[in-house]
Amino acid sequence: MEVEQSLAGKAAVVTGGSRGIGQAIAVRLASAGARVSVGGLSDVSDTRALLESAGVSPDNLLFTRADVTSPEDIDRLVKTTIDAFGKIDILVNNAGINRDGLLLRMKIEDWDAVLTTNLRGAFLCTQKVLGGMMKNRSGRIINISSVVGVAGNPGQANYAAAKAGIIGLTKTTAREVASRGITVNAVAPGFIETDMTARLSDQVREKLRAQIPQARFGAPDHVADLVEFLASDRSSYITGQVINVDGGMFMT
Ligand code: NDP
Repeated sequence: MEVEQSLAGKAAVVTGGSRGIGQAIAVRLASAGARVSVGGLSDVSDTRALLESAGVSPDNLLFTRADVTSPEDIDRLVKTTIDAFGKIDILVNNAGINRDGLLLRMKIEDWDAVLTTNLRGAFLCTQKVLGGMMKNRSGRIINISSVVGVAGNPGQANYAAAKAGIIGLTKTTAREVASRGITVNAVAPGFIETDMTARLSDQVREKLRAQIPQARFGAPDHVADLVEFLASDRSSYITGQVINVDGGMFMT
């Protein structure tokens, strides 16, 4: 029996799909039937290989070299996607970096780099796709925030501010476009095993694990599960929400 794909016929843009959470999201959306356009710094050969091994045609994955700190690159990403797919139904603002350090010693460059990539990048991508979505009277925008944006975290003033900013951006955009059939939600992962968290010492990892009721770290697929749902038609009555994927780490 043929199983209906939740995203058949949809066109998605995912920023930063070369590895980690963005890669899992790109693979998941394509596996659910969407055509996926990844904008990022590095190429997506690993992502393409994962798709092939999942039996999904790599033709459903488009890559554009695009730095989310550059408005020109974002213009090109959106134009290339529309030229190839004819529309954009789904935007996942995933690209992100961290430059950790205590606030007292934080360099202005580290503050600016994190805010520019994580928050301004999401704003620019959202602004660029929104016109088309409004015209189509339908769309899904999913912003990857963090539990740190809700709760704060010592050593991450820049990152937490950016991720809290993402939540404000999500709620405001959701209110502005709700009447146009567009939903905007934030996903707030806890501790997910990727390159970003691989740098943490064993001591820090153990301290973090002790704060998680499920006593385990998450995998990129745990985030992709929720993103697939939020990107689908089944989530049409959910907007302006921040949903944690964190093994119970933060309960609000
Ligand atoms: P990774 O460091 O593994 O991957 C980051 C991705 O973002 C890469 O694909 C990278 O591309 C891309 N990227 C970075 N800077 C830019 C840029 N200027 N323009 C375009 N793409 C860029 O991180 P994760 O997968 O862990 O994180 C993904 C998202 O999830 C981030 O927003 C992060 O803040 C968030 N998050 C992660 C958590 C975790 O525990 N891992 C927890 C909460 C939130 P390239 O490969 O080319 O460098």
